[in-house]
Amino acid sequence: MRKIAFILIAAFIASLLASCGTSSEYVTDSSFALDTLVSFKVAGQENASENIADCMNMIDRLDGVLSKTNRQSDISKLNASAEAVLTPEGYETLKLACRLSLDTDGAYDPTVGEIVGLWDITGNARVPRDDELARAMTHVGADKLIFDDVTNTVKKTDPETIVDLGGAGKGYVCQKAVELLASKGGYGVVSFGSSIGVFGAKPDGSCWNIAITDPSDPSSTIGYVTVPNGFISVSGDYERYAEIDGKRYCHIIDPATGRPVDNGVHSVVVWNGDGEAGDVISTALFVCGEDGVETLRGAGLEFEAMIISDAGTFMTDGMKKIYTEYGK
Ligand code: AMP
Ligand code: MG
Repeated sequence: MRKIAFILIAAFIASLLASCGTSSEYVTDSSFALDTLVSFKVAGQENASENIADCMNMIDRLDGVLSKTNRQSDISKLNASAEAVLTPEGYETLKLACRLSLDTDGAYDPTVGEIVGLWDITGNARVPRDDELARAMTHVGADKLIFDDVTNTVKKTDPETIVDLGGAGKGYVCQKAVELLASKGGYGVVSFGSSIGVFGAKPDGSCWNIAITDPSDPSSTIGYVTVPNGFISVSGDYERYAEIDGKRYCHIIDPATGRPVDNGVHSVVVWNGDGEAGDVISTALFVCGEDGVETLRGAGLEFEAMIISDAGTFMTDGMKKIYTEYGK
């Protein structure tokens, strides 16, 4: 399963890089972190290779902070006890995730960890029993985490609450990577597959074209968005999924039901100015569909979005302006 996901993500990145042009002025490199292929494309810097290497080290460190499988990570420490003192980055990511959870009316909720574990879509997937799900649902709720900004301590009012930053972490780390590289000047792209950040101004003044994967055929693309800056975040049912008794289950859970989303949405593409928020928004819109756009904007979130579902393709007005569909 992980292998399939990896191949799909690699195909996606290949299409992304192809769409950005392959001019030799770019230094390119890639690594594996946060369970995904991370690729870099940087130009206009004297020491681009060294800067990318520094960036990879930072990403590895943040992976160690946010990972739910690494037992030394902030998230593992918090999941193993009723309270934990987090690193500044772990604290910042989780606190913003909880604030955004409120903005999404709980469609994105970083405390769905136990439910994610019960379904284990990316591992030994199974359909949990109703009583297991009902019990796990009682431990969900971003309001169960209390933040102390002075000591970076997070306390759980329900000790059994399990945190999972899988829907926000890549966006956060992508933003940190972009900030680090942008501080060295030049221009380029950092891609975590489902979170892509661009920085700097190209000498010819052109924008970045980011290819959009066809959710019904993830080895091909359906078009591209053209952006001057910011982050593109994608949540798709083709990214990670499992088939159980002939039925396909995606990796995104509806916190209201405790079950994988099954609302006809196949892919959400978001463009915004903040990596973690973009990651969260794409996950939340995957859960809510088109109706979520108004809720999220009503909460003050700024973004453009495309939602591809059984009902067709919905685009916000701003997305219509930046999206080009092949053949149109
Ligand atoms: P993404 O691919 O960014 O949409 O994030 C999906 C990942 O976030 C899953 O693999 C889970 O680890 C976690 N997750 C699933 N459903 C939710 C949800 N409703 N809210 C927050 N995190 C979720
Ligand atoms: Mg996400």
